[in-house]
Amino acid sequence: MVKLSPEEYIETLKEPRRLIYADGSLIKDVVEHPLTAGVVRSMARSYEMEQDPAFKGLLTARSFISGREVSRGIAIFRSIEDLCKRVDMGLTYAREFGTCYYSCPGCDTLNALAATTWEMDKELGTDYHSRLKTFIRELEERDARCSGAVTDAKGDRSLRPPEQPDMYLRVVEERSDGIVIRGCKVSQSGAWANHYHIVVPNVALREGEEKFALACAVPAGGERIKYVCQYNFYSAYRMHADREEVPNWPYGFRETCIIIFDDVFVPWDHVFLYGEVGYVGKLITRFANIHRMVCGGSCKAGFLDILIGAMALMADQLGTMRARHIRNFLARAIVMRNVLYACAKMAALEGHEEPEGSGFYGPDLIYANAAKLLAADYFFEVVKFACDVAGGLVVTAPSLKDLKNPDVGEHLRRYLRARAPAEDRVKLAKLIQLWLMHAPATWHGAGPPEYEMVFLRRAIDLEPLKELAKRLMG
Ligand SMILES: Cc1cc2nc3c(=O)[nH]c(=O)nc-3n(C[C@H](O)[C@H](O)[C@H](O)COP(=O)(O)OP(=O)(O)OC[C@H]3O[C@@H](n4cnc5c(N)ncnc54)[C@H](O)[C@@H]3O)c2cc1C
Repeated sequence: MVKLSPEEYIETLKEPRRLIYADGSLIKDVVEHPLTAGVVRSMARSYEMEQDPAFKGLLTARSFISGREVSRGIAIFRSIEDLCKRVDMGLTYAREFGTCYYSCPGCDTLNALAATTWEMDKELGTDYHSRLKTFIRELEERDARCSGAVTDAKGDRSLRPPEQPDMYLRVVEERSDGIVIRGCKVSQSGAWANHYHIVVPNVALREGEEKFALACAVPAGGERIKYVCQYNFYSAYRMHADREEVPNWPYGFRETCIIIFDDVFVPWDHVFLYGEVGYVGKLITRFANIHRMVCGGSCKAGFLDILIGAMALMADQLGTMRARHIRNFLARAIVMRNVLYACAKMAALEGHEEPEGSGFYGPDLIYANAAKLLAADYFFEVVKFACDVAGGLVVTAPSLKDLKNPDVGEHLRRYLRARAPAEDRVKLAKLIQLWLMHAPATWHGAGPPEYEMVFLRRAIDLEPLKELAKRLMG
């Protein structure tokens, strides 16, 4: 079994070649291009951290298949402790990168598949679970990583997949040795920087929708898969601004892409569900609960740690740290951060073996969905506080180049300084600016609030609570 060094990991991105498009052209060098370099650096750094004894047992885990120590990014949860470590892994990487750990949805889809394929083999006599275990052993052997390809294009949300087949990834051909798939997956976090895409359906399916009921592993890269990078104002900034101007230069922002599967062949041994519409809802629910635990209370707690740190630095710079309302903002932000982390940890601690007898563990649904539901609101709240603490400069700050311009630099350095030099203030304002865009990303990542409410409305058990009230009414 190999353990890839960061450099060896980067080499793996060359073969098979990734066809990645950004801003209208094909990217020649993913290691150097401003829109992909940050993703490559964070993935390479995660390989480095996994081999650091300080993170042993947190970023690595014992494989239930080979018994060997492997990346926790490809490890299956076999205990409450594994769920807790999954939460702390997300927090650790978020604080390190200030952006995503790009194998996060891959880890969570693998875990949802472990439980669901076990259940299907037990109930249907299929061999999906043994295929999955063989695949995971392959991942371990190659020290490979996975992305999680869930979100379909979905087109007109009021129509079903058969009414608009292009809008949902589907099987277009069955062969004796495998299947051919066609479609796209949108908003895919750092997908091309992984070695496999774990494809799962995005919506619960019904009879007659079998060709959309597909879970499989697709190798990244090659001629039949194309990636189109997100391009928003921060992307333009990374493309055109000087390095020192761009906050969080090393790792960047949450980079996603669209994956286009242009009639891609998948061998049967990489197919883990095909046609069993009755198990799709369970698979999606298991994935969503794990991913909401992590996306709500683990990485978001880490991101808020960075944002609150930036707010506190700004209050120091502006001499407002003793002001009651500023300290209120900071205290409330820390409360919100801790509530999110507490929900994620409780989701893990209240987790359970699921399905019973399988040895696989999943988080508590209510705490997991609470973490993500609250994160959507709390992130906008804390961004609001940060905007207040930073003042208008959070939007109106000039370029750092202007501070060096012989005509105006001296004036700007004099007038924009506070308890810190003007340059530090401008840099900090731009770092806070970056976090403004994390709020909508937090809103939708792992599903917008209504998706959590659908799960929570279904899951809440009111009868015991009614009994409680009745008893006290005598
Ligand atoms: C930064 C970021 C990273 C991401 N990373 C990944 C990733 O790695 N892998 C992945 O697969 N996905 C990823 N996603 C996608 C994310 O999971 C989706 O954005 C999210 O689930 C919402 O789906 P959508 O974007 O299609 O919006 P929609 O689902 O269309 O939601 C938009 C609005 O429409 C409503 N709506 C949707 N459908 C219906 C309906 N049938 N009836 C009534 N109302 C409806 C929703 O409730 C919401 O209010 C990422 C997203 C972001 C922002």
